[in-house]
Amino acid sequence: MNMPLAAHFASIPRLLDVRDEFPGVPADWAYLDAAATAQKPRAVIEAISRAYGEDYATVHRGVYSRSARMTEAYEAARDAVARFINGKPSETVFVRGATEAINLVAQSWGNACIGSGDRILLSRLEHHSNIVPWRMLADRTGAEIDVAPLTADGRIDEAALIALIGPQTRLVAIAHVSNVLGGIADIARIAVAAHAVGAKLLVDGCQAAPRLAIDVKALGCDFYTFSAHKLYGPTGIGILWARADILDAMPPWQGGGAMIDEVAFEGVTYASAPQRFEAGTPHIVGAVGLHVAIDWVNSIGIEAIDAHERALTAIARSEIARLDGVRLFGPDDSAGIISFAVGDVHPHDVATILDEGGVAIRAGHHCAQPLMQWLGVPATARASFSAHSNEADIDRLVKGIKRTQRIFG
Ligand code: PMP
Repeated sequence: MNMPLAAHFASIPRLLDVRDEFPGVPADWAYLDAAATAQKPRAVIEAISRAYGEDYATVHRGVYSRSARMTEAYEAARDAVARFINGKPSETVFVRGATEAINLVAQSWGNACIGSGDRILLSRLEHHSNIVPWRMLADRTGAEIDVAPLTADGRIDEAALIALIGPQTRLVAIAHVSNVLGGIADIARIAVAAHAVGAKLLVDGCQAAPRLAIDVKALGCDFYTFSAHKLYGPTGIGILWARADILDAMPPWQGGGAMIDEVAFEGVTYASAPQRFEAGTPHIVGAVGLHVAIDWVNSIGIEAIDAHERALTAIARSEIARLDGVRLFGPDDSAGIISFAVGDVHPHDVATILDEGGVAIRAGHHCAQPLMQWLGVPATARASFSAHSNEADIDRLVKGIKRTQRIFG
């Protein structure tokens, strides 16, 4: 497509204009690293400040009124998360992030339900946090790991994945949206195939939660996880959602305060889920911040954010595709994330030159080394969009890539 940039922009449907709400993103800085972590809207930053200031107190223990209010706020955050993904609050566990959620499942559910000869099915494009905990579980238990291949354009090959599901498969664990290539998996289709052999399906929703409407019931998965910091919320907090019957049967994985019913030296009884999985003082302020982040996303509409990012992605892909010698990875209809290579310039050099022009992208293996091997590169340059991204960001990105090409001849 050889349309001038301005004509592309004129054809975009209803782009968002929320840049002013992000104090961390000045107009002349193209922050294109939302897939690593999202910048925060002012509402979230102010809520965090209030929660550490005039509202601060612990939860669940205090009998004074401020602590009672904070407990209400903490549980209201859980309710908001549950509504956001169409789950129940009793199925929603606060964790440190997606990495911790997957480790929780591997250690609690995995240790109880996976044994020698059982098979765990992953895909070639998984983030290390959805590979390493399963490799560790396999090493502990004697289970085997299968790896679903990708299609030529870098999506999970769903037909091939389904063909790999066998009678010994106990778990399928895949990303909803790839953090490198942006392809979207058909979770509902995979859930049906997994459940047909009695396997469970864990979905790593880190890159999906900030972009797609999530309905865990409609998806039919058994576990769903995401990190708040990619959803415009604070670091240090994330979500594990698990179907009630599964979560209720899972043993605790960390012991301490808040997760017990009664404690004696001779024996301990545990609280019911989700408290059983939240040992110790939780990230109270993180939960409050996540609640406000979800309210902020809802005030804009996740569908509007998705449409916005897809429009920008389509424009950016078509503009980058016009540049000689630049290789685009991943599917054309990727969700907000573009990986590319500028000739044989190292992605770190690309990122450094882009940085000089006020463009922040990520360069590296993106915690997806098996995917890099499949792509045949040690690393990629990755630009990822957010609600605050705009046409000027793409303009800067394209100019920066051209400058890189000039510098490297
Ligand atoms: N899965 C995917 C797809 C991700 O993009 C990330 C973050 N890069 C993670 C898991 C891990 O998230 P966190 O580091 O917040 O635990």
